[in-house]
Amino acid sequence: MRIDVVTLFPQMIKDYARHGVLARALTQQLMVLHTWNPRDYSDNKQQQVDDRPYGGGAGMVMMAKPLQQAIRAARAQQSPHCRVIYMNPQGRPLKQDAINNMAKADGLILIAGRYKGIDERVVECEVDEQWSLGDYVISGGELAAMVVIEAVSRHLPQVLGNEDSAQEDSFMTGLLDCPHYTRPHEFEDRRVPEVLLSGNHESIRRWRLKQSLGRTLQQRPDLLSQHVLNREERELLNAYAREHGLVLTRMKEHENE
Ligand code: SAH
Repeated sequence: MRIDVVTLFPQMIKDYARHGVLARALTQQLMVLHTWNPRDYSDNKQQQVDDRPYGGGAGMVMMAKPLQQAIRAARAQQSPHCRVIYMNPQGRPLKQDAINNMAKADGLILIAGRYKGIDERVVECEVDEQWSLGDYVISGGELAAMVVIEAVSRHLPQVLGNEDSAQEDSFMTGLLDCPHYTRPHEFEDRRVPEVLLSGNHESIRRWRLKQSLGRTLQQRPDLLSQHVLNREERELLNAYAREHGLVLTRMKEHENE
């Protein structure tokens, strides 16, 4: 997969990509990352990329022309149908299913805005999708683009050592992940749950599923109400709720059970 980021701060993207799983994916060429700086496409001497907003008011706006040129330069090196995504607090909130869908693409172009945002005509002429990190505003789209890059890269084949591990993460099955423990066996007078030391894979699987269901009930009941429970999940969730004195409202169930 190839990702192109259009940004006034390419170094932010490059520096971040030098670490962890993403750095490994790039050195192993499982993924290719490029940056494009609108400043390189500015046609005036000062390499101006921002200007005052029409209608007045505080702040600056990213100018249309250099930004469009940078996007088009990226597009020329991508496949012609490559999706152009503007990271924008006004876009749809990013969720795992949107990430899974992006991970299927051969390439993506991500636009990071700055200042008050980008000239609206670039959105109209060049942008296919707009995605938001959430209902708050940060100062630039670089971090938002990085979030997409990190989230997408986890789903490319071979990027994670064990390919199953992304499948077990929170949101992939519609539930939160179960709790995790490592050595030592005892910490602050708290022991690792015995079942995890039992070596019984079936009991461990059931315990983990039960914890996932229980945490989702406690922390994100909104997710649980979207999730269709099979018989085993229903039993485990009921048991969890009983043990923790929680009340269950009616959950979705498989129709044939
Ligand atoms: N005036 C705009 C915010 C501009 S912030 C508004 O109120 O809607 C500057 C840039 O930061 C944006 O162009 C966008 O690329 C990025 N940004 C800020 N918050 C974001 C968020 N929640 N999700 C994605 N990108 C965001």
